[in-house]
Amino acid sequence: MSKYCFGVDLGGTTVKIGLFDPEGNVLEKWEIPTRKEDNGSKILPDIAKSVLDKTEEKAIAKEDIIGVGIGVPGPVDDNGVVHKAVNLGWGVMNINETLGSLLQIPVKAGNDANVAALGEMWCGGGKGCTNMVLATLGTGVGGGIIINGKMVTGATGAGGEIGHIHIEDNEPDACGCGNHGCLEQYASATGVVRLAERKLASSTQDSVLRTAKAEGSLSAKAVFDAVKEGDALACEVAEQFGDYLGKGFAAIAGVVNPELFVLGGGVSKAGEILCEYVSKYYTKYVFHGSKNAQFKLATLGNDAGIYGAAKLVLE
Ligand SMILES: [Zn+2]
Repeated sequence: MSKYCFGVDLGGTTVKIGLFDPEGNVLEKWEIPTRKEDNGSKILPDIAKSVLDKTEEKAIAKEDIIGVGIGVPGPVDDNGVVHKAVNLGWGVMNINETLGSLLQIPVKAGNDANVAALGEMWCGGGKGCTNMVLATLGTGVGGGIIINGKMVTGATGAGGEIGHIHIEDNEPDACGCGNHGCLEQYASATGVVRLAERKLASSTQDSVLRTAKAEGSLSAKAVFDAVKEGDALACEVAEQFGDYLGKGFAAIAGVVNPELFVLGGGVSKAGEILCEYVSKYYTKYVFHGSKNAQFKLATLGNDAGIYGAAKLVLE
């Protein structure tokens, strides 16, 4: 008899849900809106209903469902307790128990970024690895660390928050977290733009980025497109980006010695060129015992969360 599992990626506006087999094939995927009213009290019942409707539609018996995994935007400890998901209006809640009792199916919850790393390890850029770090370079920098095939969650579920590693002592601007000089301030999409704007302001050098800035189209993509065209100022920005992220990765490697770093998120759309800049500085800063780590791009895109969530219940 075939077995199934569900992977749920709970986001601020939509919930993505996937039906998987234990080999990592997605059999079906769909989305429902995230209803945040009443302090998010409708979210888990909505998810439970959607999953149960699907099992009925597919005539799947409950005993053939291994479990439902779910990635949540907030710190989640190993017992499935979320410690405040501000975006959803949630305080402290045990997701495993709450959703599990609605479904009468085993539930396992994790932090969404950590879960995405598990997904990339299972079926994406980290396939075949058991020690890897996923860095999601989007509006901010998120991350997940997998060691010996398991997510590093830590005491309160805040493990893998690599975006707030302190990397620069002389940073006048504050990070979203309130500190100054976090990795996220240089390696996120907005961080790359900030680096470019500073570089433009401090020189009179000719650059296509100067035109982009004037037209209001300066973005991380514009920077790396310019790098590919050989724009000298853009290349200097890419060197700075690589230096910061390489330094951050070297610090992480000093603790967990991964075999692979996977780059995901919007900035990673720049392609392999990112890996070149980062690995150059990683090699410069890292302890020799971790020198052989590889750099790859994420491959699952927005589906990493549902893959990882499904994988959670297979462990
Ligand atoms: Zn920060």
